[in-house]
Amino acid sequence: MQTMRAPAASGAATRVAGRRVFRPMAATKLAAGVTTDMSKRTIPAKLEEGEMPLNTYSNKAPFKAKVKSVEKITGPKATGETCHIIIETEGKIPFWEGQSYGVIPPGTKINSKGKEVPHGTRLYSIASSRYGDVFDGNTASLCVRRAVYVDPETGKEDPAKKGLCSNFLCDAAPGTEIMMTGPTGKVLLLPADQNAPLIMVATGTGIAPFRSFWRRCFLENVPGYKFTGLFWLFMGVANSDAKLYDEELQAIAKAYPSQFRLDYALSREQKNRKGGKMYIQDKVEEYADEVFDLLNNGGHMYFCGLKGMMPGIQEMLERVAKEKGLNYEEWVENLKHKNQWHVEVY
Ligand code: FAD
Repeated sequence: MQTMRAPAASGAATRVAGRRVFRPMAATKLAAGVTTDMSKRTIPAKLEEGEMPLNTYSNKAPFKAKVKSVEKITGPKATGETCHIIIETEGKIPFWEGQSYGVIPPGTKINSKGKEVPHGTRLYSIASSRYGDVFDGNTASLCVRRAVYVDPETGKEDPAKKGLCSNFLCDAAPGTEIMMTGPTGKVLLLPADQNAPLIMVATGTGIAPFRSFWRRCFLENVPGYKFTGLFWLFMGVANSDAKLYDEELQAIAKAYPSQFRLDYALSREQKNRKGGKMYIQDKVEEYADEVFDLLNNGGHMYFCGLKGMMPGIQEMLERVAKEKGLNYEEWVENLKHKNQWHVEVY
């Protein structure tokens, strides 16, 4: 008789009526909208038609949407808290992958002239494709990090100075009304060439627009769009608990091993070649030859995340370019000229 042995870490053996029975542990619960189902979904292709939408809604005439769900997607040891937020749009504020929405937090403030005015708009990269997390075009998702203020003297969080809009979004109950503007942005769009290699460098919530890309490239059956290139994501976060959408990424990596690459830089867990903290530029540098080759052959390079990521990356690229006998400024200018260089940092 064959005996079935359960993997030690994924369940527990127990006795039922004297027999040893394996009881599998519940699988890790995925946040709403996050999927490991790699089948290509049918989508309402009418959203492929027409020009790219831009600033359909403004501060003076915003779109009223409703929050469908808010889920924390970072683990307990992450530095900070990030939420995946699904918004019911009923398909009335269409957008293209790589664009952002504006959100106007509720309430008012007193401006510099002493006048009571609505709060200003905050931008958020859209983290789903134009078809939304359930592929019907009726929702859009955001990936929002709660902005907190840590008092430099006490080292403690001061709730009175917490970020207004990010906390409003991360605390929103389903059904909460939100005022939205946009869509905006044309810097991080996918190239028309469906075979062009895509190299994406993200830190933290900078992953949001790239999620919209990977869902379009790998999860949707889009008439007239079949991605055949290489999809390479470099993702920088502090530690494993701060990874975002990792389940979805691992499932794609497994399903498309020759077309999809994922490299993490976990600054507080990994060491770079010199023994220091592994920052995103250190991880990209490990593959600098391949990255330069891909870019010299029509690849597109995207950067998204906090502004602070760029100086380190630029320094590294400049050094590598020099080693290769290239003039860095000319090399980047040429990529920009050919629309292969896309930067959106905040
Ligand atoms: P605010 O209320 O605007 O406060 C800003 C900061 O000031 C906070 O850190 C707050 O703690 C601090 N602060 C408040 N009061 C004080 C005080 N009295 N003294 C000192 N400090 C104080 N963010 C995301 O999370 N996800 C995204 O996908 C994303 N995409 C973006 C895309 C673009 C193109 C841009 C430009 C920005 C993007 N952002 C994104 C950032 C986002 O727009 C907001 O800037 C961010 O959420 C903070 O807004 P807030 O209203 O929460 O904070």
